[in-house]
Amino acid sequence: MRVLLIEDEYHMREALCRGLREEGNEAVGAATGSEGLRLARDEGFDVIVCDILLPGLNGFQICRRLREQGVWTPILMLTAKDGEWDQAEALDAGADDYLTKPFSYVVLKAHLRALVRRGAKSATAAGDVLRWGDLVLDRRAHRCSRSGRDVDLSHREFDLLAELMASGARAVSKAELLERVWGPTFNGDPNIVEVYMGYLRRKVDAPFGRRTIETVRGVGYRLAEVDAGG
Ligand code: CA
Repeated sequence: MRVLLIEDEYHMREALCRGLREEGNEAVGAATGSEGLRLARDEGFDVIVCDILLPGLNGFQICRRLREQGVWTPILMLTAKDGEWDQAEALDAGADDYLTKPFSYVVLKAHLRALVRRGAKSATAAGDVLRWGDLVLDRRAHRCSRSGRDVDLSHREFDLLAELMASGARAVSKAELLERVWGPTFNGDPNIVEVYMGYLRRKVDAPFGRRTIETVRGVGYRLAEVDAGG
C-alpha cells in the first residue's frame, strides 16, 4: 500500500516510514501541514496517517480541506491522550479512524490495513468507525454524532443504527435486524423493529431535517444514498 505520513516529529516519521518500506509498502513523509495537504491532494495514496499538532495547517484543517475538495483517501488521525482535542473531534473533521499516542506499530499497521480494505467513502463493517455522509458512529467510544453534534442513543438504538450503517445502501430485512440486534432467541413482537426505527428517525433524521433511514416496502430498511453535500 501507498501511505502518506504527515508528522512533524522527525524520529517518529522516519521510523514509521522505514518500517512500512521494509515490508514492501511505499511510504512518503511530510513534516508540515501544508506539505501534507499538497501531497495528499496531488498524489494518490491508499491511506493517510496524520498528526494533529503540525506546523502550518493542523490535522483537522487538513482533513476538512481534503474532504471539501472531494479527496476521500482514508485518514487515520494520531491523537494525544492528554491533548487539547479528542478523538471525537478528529472524526467530526472527517477522519476515518484514530489512534492515541503512544501506539504500537503492529496496531498501527492493523488499522491501516483495515482502512485500505474498506476505502473511505461509505460506511462498512470493517473498522470501529462507521460513517455515512455526516452521520458518524464510533463503535469503540460508543458515540454517535451528526454534523458534529452528539446524538444520544440507547444501546439498542446504537446497535440497530450500526447494522444499518454497516449495510449502507443495501436493504436489510426486518428478520435480519431482529436476529442481529435482538438476538436469535428473541420471540417477542417483530414490530419492535419498526418501533425502534421510529426512535432512530426522531434522533438522527428529524432534528437535522433529513430522511436517511428509508423503508423499502416489503423488504426492510436501508440508508438513503449520501448526497453530494452530505
Ligand atoms: Ca506534532
